[in-house]
Amino acid sequence: MPATPVALVTGANKGIGLQIAKDLAAHDLTVLVGSRELDRGEAAAKSIEGDARAVQLDVTDQSSIAAAAERIRDEFGRLDVLVNNAGISHAAAPGRSMEEIVQAGRLSAASLDEIRSVFETNVFGVIAVTQAMLPLLREAPAGRVVNVSSSGGSLTLNSDPTNPHRAMFGTYSASKAAANAVTVAFAADLEADGIKVNAACPGFTGTDLNFFRGTRTVEQGAREPVRLALIGPDGPTGTFSNEDGPLPW
Ligand code: NAP
Repeated sequence: MPATPVALVTGANKGIGLQIAKDLAAHDLTVLVGSRELDRGEAAAKSIEGDARAVQLDVTDQSSIAAAAERIRDEFGRLDVLVNNAGISHAAAPGRSMEEIVQAGRLSAASLDEIRSVFETNVFGVIAVTQAMLPLLREAPAGRVVNVSSSGGSLTLNSDPTNPHRAMFGTYSASKAAANAVTVAFAADLEADGIKVNAACPGFTGTDLNFFRGTRTVEQGAREPVRLALIGPDGPTGTFSNEDGPLPW
C-alpha cells in the first residue's frame, strides 16, 4: 500500500468541494478531485497546492462510479477518505431565480421528475459512491466518510413552528434529511469495520448553489467536513455537526 493517504472528494471542481480538496492536500493527503466534467476537474486540480489529481466522477452514473473505483485501485492502490460533497439544489435548466427555485422546490409544486433528480444526486449518489468505494475503504487503516449535509435537512429544527426557515423545507431539504438517514445507516453498518461515517453542515456558504448569497466563505464552509475527514481513532461516528458543534437530526 502506498505510504500517503488518499482522499476522494466528489463535486470538487468548485465551491466547498474544491476548498475541501485544497485543505486535505494541505494536510499532505493525495487528493482526488471528483468532477463530472474531467476538464473542469483538471483545471481545479491545477489550482491546488500539493498532490491533487482529477477523476471523472458523475455520482448519478454507475459506470462512471465503477470506472473511478477501478482507477483509484489501479493507480493509487488505496482510499482512506471519501467526502460525499456533490450536491444540487434543484434540477431545472438554468435561468430561474433563487426565489423561483425555492417555490418550485415545495412538495406541493415540485414535479416528481425534479424530486427524483435531486434525490438521485444528493441521496442515491451518496449511497452508490460509498458502496463502490467500500472495498478500498475497508482496506484502509482508518477509513473515513463525510457526507456534506445541511442544517436545512434537520427534521428537529424544521418541526419547530417558530423556525422562520421552515417554509423553505422542500425537495432539497428533504433530500438532505434522507442523506442524514443514510449517514446513520452507513455508520451503524460500518462500525465493526472501523470506518467512521459522519454528516457535516458547512453553513450558508456563498457558492453557485445559492447564487452566491451565502454569507460564509468556502474556507469557513470546508472546516467541519475537513475536521471530520481527519478525525483520529477516538473520533465520533454517526454524528451530524457544524463548526459550532452537534446539530439535531
Ligand atoms: P456548488 O458550488 O454548486 O458545487 C456543487 C458541486 O457538486 C459541483 O462541483 C458540481 O459539479 C457537483 N455535482 C453536482 N451534481 C453532480 C453529479 N451528478 N456528479 C458529480 N458532481 C456533481 O455548491 P456547494 O455549495 O459547494 O455545494 C457542496 C455541497 O455542500 C452540496 O452537497 C450542498 O448541498 C452542500 N451545502 C451547501 C451549502 C451552501 O450554503 N452552499 C449549505 C449546506 C450544504 P458541476 O460543476 O459539474 O455542476
